[in-house]
Amino acid sequence: MNFTLPTLPYAANALEPAISQQTIEFHYGKHHQTYVNNLNTLVKGTPFENASLEEIIRQADGPIFNNAAQTWNHTFYFMQFSPQGKNAPDGQLAEAIRTQWQSLDTFKEEFNKAGAALFGSGWVWLVKNPDGTPAIVKTTNADNPMRNGQKPLLTFDVWEHAYYLDYQNRRADYLNALWNILDWKVIEERF
Ligand code: MN
Repeated sequence: MNFTLPTLPYAANALEPAISQQTIEFHYGKHHQTYVNNLNTLVKGTPFENASLEEIIRQADGPIFNNAAQTWNHTFYFMQFSPQGKNAPDGQLAEAIRTQWQSLDTFKEEFNKAGAALFGSGWVWLVKNPDGTPAIVKTTNADNPMRNGQKPLLTFDVWEHAYYLDYQNRRADYLNALWNILDWKVIEERF
């Protein structure tokens, strides 16, 4: 299988000021592209050559896992944003969040806290547990919650390359700004 970089459903400057055009050009155009390129090179001649991205994430280790998971995680991250997204969830997802965290604001605070406290590089996620309940989880480096049987719903990238051009060391400000461009319609569909 030849993996490709997905086309973004918005212009490179459309998410400003939360994410600048320059960050999109580096983060999507260089980092994300490099994970895709590395993965295509690494799987050649291996049992993963014709596997799906999800199969590789569940089964591989080492560099093949790292580049497959980073390819998947970045696509999942970039596709949840929109300059004119839905600013709050409705329906079953809204109810699940209220049941777990009392309010959307409390959920966002807990999510931001988890992202700010993650030491080093990684991802903070909203996931759906096998029993249907939502949870906030952190993973380090390329790791993905589907390795633990959880269904990813939303993720914020807290690798420094995701925010350093725009926010330098202010990771909390970056996390806070992402809520302004998150499209909750995408998250509802994933739920
Ligand atoms: Mn990244």
